[in-house]
Amino acid sequence: MDFSNYEKSTASVWAGETDVLPNGAVTTPIVKSVAFAYTDLDEWHEVALGKAEGFIYSRNTNPTVHVLEEKIRILEGAEAATAFATGMGAISNTLFALLGPGKRVVSLKDTYGGTSRLFLDFLPRYQVNVTLCDTTDFDQIEAEVAKGCDVLYLETPTNPTLKVVDLARLAAAAKKVGAVTVVDNTFATPINQNPLALGADLVLHSATKFLGGHSDAMGGVLCGSKELVSKVFQFREINGASIQADAAYMIARGMKTLELRIERQNASALTIARYLKAHPKVSDVFYPGLETHPGHEIAKSQMSGFGGIMSFSLNGGYEQVKTFLPKLRFVHLAASLGSVSTLAGPPRTTSHVELTEDQRRQLGIPESLIRYSVGIENVNDLLADLEQALAAL
Ligand SMILES: *Cc1c(COP(=O)(O)O)cnc(C)c1O
Repeated sequence: MDFSNYEKSTASVWAGETDVLPNGAVTTPIVKSVAFAYTDLDEWHEVALGKAEGFIYSRNTNPTVHVLEEKIRILEGAEAATAFATGMGAISNTLFALLGPGKRVVSLKDTYGGTSRLFLDFLPRYQVNVTLCDTTDFDQIEAEVAKGCDVLYLETPTNPTLKVVDLARLAAAAKKVGAVTVVDNTFATPINQNPLALGADLVLHSATKFLGGHSDAMGGVLCGSKELVSKVFQFREINGASIQADAAYMIARGMKTLELRIERQNASALTIARYLKAHPKVSDVFYPGLETHPGHEIAKSQMSGFGGIMSFSLNGGYEQVKTFLPKLRFVHLAASLGSVSTLAGPPRTTSHVELTEDQRRQLGIPESLIRYSVGIENVNDLLADLEQALAAL
């Protein structure tokens, strides 16, 4: 079914689920079958060759996984989509499928911790030439891209300091040299930002975060043109980073409420960021929705909402963080983000635990920084919770 005339909230619910389901079921079944049987050998052969629609083996394709892929494909306005066991599965399969010995990738210093490990440790082992630029120095990124590259890999807003990257400008620079632009859209979600519409070639997500939204399933997704997605899909089916039907079901289910959750999280995060910004015990707040954020104008032009994640630092350093965080009542102190419940943690013990204090300082990550991922709780309860914990300092 063509969803181009319908809004995202409608597509979130119905995409992939418009066919009549077995026994008149009103929600997509979890098809746990490893393989799919045929009575007609010719039909089996046609499906196996990819010449007819159908399913063969769940490492390659699965009906429940297909529903998830359809939902994200429609929300990102893409021709094709494929799903993975985790977000890192999506990222590593994409990079390894597109790169190889002698190829060059240009990216940012502020990518997600796991992605950054790929750039610094794993890709160089395969003679891939990696250049990491200052995340908001767009002149430098353009200049590096202009020297010639195969992949431009971007992420915006970034983790954990919420830097904003100009997608249209950099994707245009990549197009000039024939490079593929890949964007990690996990923080923004397809409700707030659609990188393909801004000129990117591929967009990927850790579906573990906002798409699933309930911290109970892991997954990753990649969207883009049929040609590029199929290139990565062929690597994924052999590499084996396929998502299980149960996890795909949980994520597709979560996606039905994506717009409701994101609207709430956008609004609550802005209110909380403004509150923290004005608080005397808070030294800095990083949130692209604040007019004082250096990336605010770009964020306003490429995002329709500023997202549910912010970070802030406290006066007085890490000792204060140790007092403050355990006092919060409606926050899980945990490494994830994008859930219905509020999650928080210091990058010092979560995303950037493997770096030294010096390396964190070079990335502009103060030791007293706290990443705060706003859930769907009532915003006044969250504000009161922050107030009582700040009062204890
Ligand atoms: C969590 C995350 C990933 C990795 O996803 P997993 O599902 O944990 O493998 C990648 N990028 C960003 C921005 C993330 O937040």
